[in-house]
Amino acid sequence: MSIRIGTGDLAKYPFLNEASDYVRETHFDIQEFNRPEMKHIIDRAAHRLEREVAKGLPDERLDRYEIEILTFLVTLIIVKSIGTEGVLRKHSLFEARRAEKFLSEDLIREKNEQKKRLILSTVFRELFKVNVEVSENNSQLFKVKITDYLMRASHFHEQEWKLINRLVYNGFVYLDADETVRLIRSELGQLIYDKVKSMTLSTLPQAIKTKVDELKVQLAPHYQYQKYKIQEYPPCIKHALEGMNKGENLSHSARLMLATFALAIGKSIEEIITLFHNAPDYNEKVTRYQIEHLAGLRGSGTKYSVPSCQKLLNQNLCFATEQCNGITNPIQFGKPTTPKKESA
Ligand code: SF4
Repeated sequence: MSIRIGTGDLAKYPFLNEASDYVRETHFDIQEFNRPEMKHIIDRAAHRLEREVAKGLPDERLDRYEIEILTFLVTLIIVKSIGTEGVLRKHSLFEARRAEKFLSEDLIREKNEQKKRLILSTVFRELFKVNVEVSENNSQLFKVKITDYLMRASHFHEQEWKLINRLVYNGFVYLDADETVRLIRSELGQLIYDKVKSMTLSTLPQAIKTKVDELKVQLAPHYQYQKYKIQEYPPCIKHALEGMNKGENLSHSARLMLATFALAIGKSIEEIITLFHNAPDYNEKVTRYQIEHLAGLRGSGTKYSVPSCQKLLNQNLCFATEQCNGITNPIQFGKPTTPKKESA
């Protein structure tokens, strides 16, 4: 018996081509969103965006596939209509996280090997051209070719992603379900981002237009990017701040570098929190907790130091210029160096 992508899968992965086929085959007309029974879908889409943009939280509810596919579609239409980069980046990130959660669960819980392979091939191979296979000896392990792995993991800064720290055998890198899915996180986000960018909108149904107008007012304080003054900071810090200015999703290591540096130069907790305001997954409560933790105000009371230049270099976060002049920690940047003693 051949196994196909089912409606349950389309609810979890509404960005698949099969979901677009469903909308096309049902001859759904966008003006149908004006019908009273569609209000629920528009409200769901608005609720999803409110959580993502205002609270920095994903919407992980899962309903019937028709509802999920249409909610996905309306959310994209609303994001396109708001027309702001900050909202688009946040939504792309959270939609990717939502799919990541379902994918990990499917790879871990799916008992039917054939179905597991189908998910791997539909999502990983068809969408992102990466072959992922289930390990022969352990169905909870997955293997990808070293080249495919390196193409993606080389952008991750954490040590655990270095090839030397991985299980490698016969040309393949072995990963658990979460790690396998993590590999395509940015591609999932990019897929949603590109979908919105390439959308052309005809006349919006009035019901959606009204919701867009409401959301523009309601969400504006949360999506207008703050511009940080980039002072005479070390190049690594400047680079991270420039990324933040554009609303990029900085890695955990880059955020740690930025926060510890800001603490070390005497910025207040409040000032540091605002530095992270543009992050697509910004959540004030979580950010405050993490910064207070780094400042030694929570947990063990240990204040974290700024990572060394060598560590930042290993994490691909160093962008040294001549001005760095052989310093060993970003905190020394721009400070007078002790002249070397002349040898006798
Ligand atoms: S050498 Fe140090 S201070 Fe300079 S960019 Fe690299 S990590 Fe930053």
